[in-house]
Amino acid sequence: MNHKKFETSAGYILLNRRRKEEAIRLVSTTTINKHGTLQVPKDYAAYVRNSVATPLGLCTEPSNVKAGGQACPARSKCGGCSYFRANVSHLPVIDSHIVALTSDLELAAPLAEGWILDGIKAEIASYKRIRRLLTLTKDSLSPEEQADIDKATELLQNLALAPAAEGPGNGRKMLPLTPKER
Ligand code: SF4
Repeated sequence: MNHKKFETSAGYILLNRRRKEEAIRLVSTTTINKHGTLQVPKDYAAYVRNSVATPLGLCTEPSNVKAGGQACPARSKCGGCSYFRANVSHLPVIDSHIVALTSDLELAAPLAEGWILDGIKAEIASYKRIRRLLTLTKDSLSPEEQADIDKATELLQNLALAPAAEGPGNGRKMLPLTPKER
């Protein structure tokens, strides 16, 4: 942070931590599973303890959570996994992933066997379904609640972009945040 005093940096880190927790609490109220059933974590501690970030949402598979997201037993095909959770803050990255998979499908079409294309199509369909369910969840909120969640989502995306003392790469378990695409 380049502050002259350690206390100044520590104050900012604490403030960001509190804002992040508050934003996570808010967006977590819209957490669903792949069927669209609400799966709101009991509290922030339970959220951190029982889930780990995936590129598109959250994983609650116990062995993968324990391994900090490094032990997925299902080849990271989260859209079809019963341990996958997502909330409305994940909508932008899910959208981007659908676009990327659609592009993959076009590139693969002339050269890949049918089972490969079927796999990509099924994955696209799974994320489209989750996208639709998240949109329905968001639409069920009042305009004020939606605006609050949009603000929380933006804050989380900005914090995920900022260099953090507790970010991935220093050996600690990742917090279930989804980085914004640059
Ligand atoms: S596929 Fe399932 S187990 Fe693997 S990371 Fe995604 S949610 Fe977790």
